[in-house]
Amino acid sequence: MTGAGSGTNAYALIRQAMDKMIDTPLSIAVAGIAGRMGRQLATAVVARGHRLVGGTERSGSPELVSDLARFAGAEPPLGRTPDVDAAKAAHTASTWIDFTTPAATLAAMDALRSTPVQTVIIGTTGFDAEAEAALQGHADRFAIVKAGNFSLGVALLTALARLAAERLGAGWDAEILETHHRFKVDAPSGTALMLGDAVAAGRGAALPDLQAAPYCGPEAKREAGAIGFSVRRSGGVIGEHELTFTSETETVRLAHSAIDRSVFADGALAAAEWANGQPPGHYGIGDVLGV
Ligand code: NAD
Repeated sequence: MTGAGSGTNAYALIRQAMDKMIDTPLSIAVAGIAGRMGRQLATAVVARGHRLVGGTERSGSPELVSDLARFAGAEPPLGRTPDVDAAKAAHTASTWIDFTTPAATLAAMDALRSTPVQTVIIGTTGFDAEAEAALQGHADRFAIVKAGNFSLGVALLTALARLAAERLGAGWDAEILETHHRFKVDAPSGTALMLGDAVAAGRGAALPDLQAAPYCGPEAKREAGAIGFSVRRSGGVIGEHELTFTSETETVRLAHSAIDRSVFADGALAAAEWANGQPPGHYGIGDVLGV
């Protein structure tokens, strides 16, 4: 990562990544195309002028008979339906976008090695250390961009969090507040923990060494230098994160709100456009933004 403090306009960086409008459309296959994210991704592929050339679905899915255009909410039909076999789905693809399950993503990576695919965008979460290592093994063949959160704004926020922690030092209390919809099961969110990691890294430490226990009960005093987390669960909120650094006399506040779930698909597409032509290797969303 290059320094976020290099004077480049942050908003311009995001717009640049989002608006790097395709001179050459990519040929993209979408894994798990009938899923919540699969549909968002198919829609974004078409909306940004790329070619939707294939898709996969799990064996037995009733959606295996549906035309690919249906998942993108587009007309006319493309005359292709999802495949179970990733190699078949990607036989004319240059780019593979995968928001499925760790097992499905790993199986697809093996199959993709014999296809023309050069770029792989992975949004799937929940890889254990072994699966993560297996995934890394494919970076010899593909330019892989993997992120647990494909919002470009969150990528920028994470870089800013690290920079702020570095510059302000441990004397400023770092607190992270996140709000999500009522159905979310894990807390704090993966993104809140990612921000905590960034703050800890900015202080030259690891989050487990600095993370405050949840404030609750009569012995809940804040420890100096700790990173605190607060969680709200409310209605249909997609995802809000706020990080504050507070001294005795002032507060610095960094915040992000996801307004629509399409933000993740837009980020994945921006990553696909950025990664096109990059050498094989493992990349993060921060590389896409250059932060
Ligand atoms: P979902 O269950 O709606 O969709 C997953 C799809 O994958 C389903 O249609 C399912 O049938 C399909 N699938 C399962 N096994 C398959 C296989 N072997 N071959 C082909 N298709 C298969 O889930 P979702 O909400 O779309 O989330 C998918 C993943 O993306 C999760 O890991 C989630 O945490 C992650 N996610 C990441 C981000 C991000 O920004 N990185 C954002 C949202 C969701």
